[in-house]
Formats: sequence, C-alpha cells, structure tokens
Amino acid sequence: MDTIPLVHASLGEQELAAVAEVFSSGWPAGQGPRGKALESELAKRYGVGDAVAVSNCGAALHLALLALGVRPGDEVIVADYTFPAPAHAVRYVGGVPVFADVLPDTGTVDPQAVAALVGPRTVGVIAVDTLGLPADYAELKSITDRHGLFLIEDAACSVGATYQGREAGALAPVACLSFHGRKGATSGEGGALLTADPALGADARVRSSFGIGSIFDQAQVVGLPIPVFTEVGYNYKLSDIAAAILQVQMGRIGELLDRRRAVAALYGEMLGDEDLVTVPHVPLDRTHAWQSYMVTLDPSVDRAGVAADLRAQGIGCGHGAWACHLQPVYETKQACPVSADLFERNLAIPMHAELSTNQVERVVESLRAALRTHARPHGVPGGAA
Ligand SMILES: *Cc1c(COP(=O)(O)O)cnc(C)c1O
Repeated sequence: MDTIPLVHASLGEQELAAVAEVFSSGWPAGQGPRGKALESELAKRYGVGDAVAVSNCGAALHLALLALGVRPGDEVIVADYTFPAPAHAVRYVGGVPVFADVLPDTGTVDPQAVAALVGPRTVGVIAVDTLGLPADYAELKSITDRHGLFLIEDAACSVGATYQGREAGALAPVACLSFHGRKGATSGEGGALLTADPALGADARVRSSFGIGSIFDQAQVVGLPIPVFTEVGYNYKLSDIAAAILQVQMGRIGELLDRRRAVAALYGEMLGDEDLVTVPHVPLDRTHAWQSYMVTLDPSVDRAGVAADLRAQGIGCGHGAWACHLQPVYETKQACPVSADLFERNLAIPMHAELSTNQVERVVESLRAALRTHARPHGVPGGAA
C-alpha cells in the first residue's frame, strides 16, 4: 500500500545544480556571494529595507528581539496557538512571554486579547501567521502604535500568502521567515529576518556572525585590516549552500503554492459537507500559504483514534500546533481557552505540493470512515463509540 506522508519537501534537479555551483565556487560557508544575492532578492521581493539570511526562524526571532532592545523582565505578548518558537525567543533574552488567545475561526491571534494584555511592562507583540494564514495586522498595528510597542510578524509558515493585497513577511516592521523542511520553501534548515529599518538589519547581521562582519568580505580587502568584536554575537549564519537552494525555491514559490492551493481546494470541496469536521476558514481579505491543512474535529470525535486509523493505513497526520500556555516550560497560570480547544481538536492531514488527486481522495475516504468509527453518539458524554 502506498504511504501518503503528511509533508514532503519539493527539492529536485534545479536545487542540485545550484548546490553544484557552490561546490565549484569554493565558498560553501555563510555571508558569501550566494548569501548576499539571496538577501538582495528577498529585500527586493518584499520591498523591505533589509533582509538578513540566517540559520533558522528561531534565530531570526532571537536576533529581532535583541535588535529591538528587549531586556530581562520585559513582557512580550505572543500568539498562543503556534509552534512555540516566539515564546522561546522571548525567554532567550530573559523576557516574559504573555500568551494571547486566538480567534476560533482562523486560529490567528485575537487583537482584542492582545489589547487586553498590554500593561506597564509590555514592550511588544509577536503575531503568528498560523499555519500559513496571516493574522489581523491592521488591528494589531493600530494597537501597537497606540501603545508605542514593536510588532513582529512570525511569517515562518506564510511565504507566498497575502493580507489586504500585501505579501506576508511585509505585514509588520519586522518579520521572520522559516525555510525549514516542513515549510513552503526550504533549504532543509534556514530562515530570514526582514525589516523596514536598515539599522535593525545591520545589527541583526553583525550579531548573526559572532559580532563581526562577513569573513568573505574581509578576504576581498587589500591590506590587513583586523576586524574588531563589538558584540558577543552568535553563529546564526545561513550557509551559501542553503542560500543557493533558496534562490531556486523562491523562484518556484508561485508554482509550489499553486499546487498546495489546488490540494486545499479539493479538500475543501470533498469535506465541506462532513458534519464531523470544520475545514479551514480563509477570510476574504487574505490568502493562505497552506503550510499545513488542518481540520477541526467535532467534540464528539476521539482524535487519537482517528489518527491511529489513518496512520495504520499509511496516511500521515498530526496534532498541528500547540497551545503554548499549556507547555510546562513556561510555568504560566494564564488561560487561553480557544487555543486550548484547537490544540485538542485540530488534526493536520497530508499537505504538500506533490499530492495527487487520487491521494487526496484516499485521505478523505479514510478520514470519513475513521470519523464515523470514532464519534460518540451525541448526548453520551464520555461514552465509547
Ligand atoms: C516552524 C516555525 C518556527 C521555527 O522555524 P525554524 O526555522 O525551524 O526555527 C517558528 N515559528 C513558527 C510559527 C513555525 O511554524
């Protein structure tokens, strides 16, 4: 029986050829010609002041908070329903993540929840484009402007999505992208920080390179100027090997996204009449990058049972994102009931650019059957199927 994986990275001959070129250039490390070329392509595509290529999105978030001057004890409001990278980044700099609940229909951060959490120690907000769907940036920006806070867009999953006609990744003054193997464009591991403010970009770039400028650049200089270390930076550079792969992937993003979009449309059509699941809602003012395809199961359905049935048939599935406030590492007593509910009821089903119509049909048939097997009759709380 064919297995249908939950995710599959679309990397092929073009990417291999780009890697071969880097091998012959003799400079595989970071901040070389390919890294610089990628950075200027990203800055142009997004119309931002600077783009800094880094090793992953977690590093981009860390550098963003450092460049924005977040200090120990500062509070940063973060979207609760997500991979927990934003809250982790707040903790890297000694800050306190404050978890904002999300909207039930989109899973993106609720602007009213954000507004209610602003306090005397709040310095900024990290919004997340949940699984590829942009958050409500018009509302969020008006809240952060009113209170003099920074706003970061975690666009890890939303490369190619749009909000009110603008590209995800350019929806806040600072944005962080991920090129991890599970995202829409990938170099295996990788990330970028995009910012309207060139000074912030310059700060992040130096800190991404141990606190000095590009070693590649230094080798081009005549004479022997010795660079000085002005910051205890990190090594968050993206290799030129990864940068070359990403140049190809960014060129293919339209094609890859069209294929994900077609899969999402098929799922939407085939599952639209299924009472036991709710399919994703995409508000009219934005488009989805479909990093994941998540359905919300009816409360009567035993999710673990459904997942076990799908996996037994070789169909990949997963729980999706996390309710961050429930993770023991944060030791918070906050409540985010909507996020907690999505964390319990959401199920990610296969989504990638290489799924065939037949495979989508098989996923839907198996899912429908599993839902019937694992639904309790209504009005029988806790009863087994
Ligand atoms: C995947 C993901 C990250 C982390 O990206 P890495 O490149 O793996 O560090 C951050 N934020 C969100 C919302 C993600 O989904």
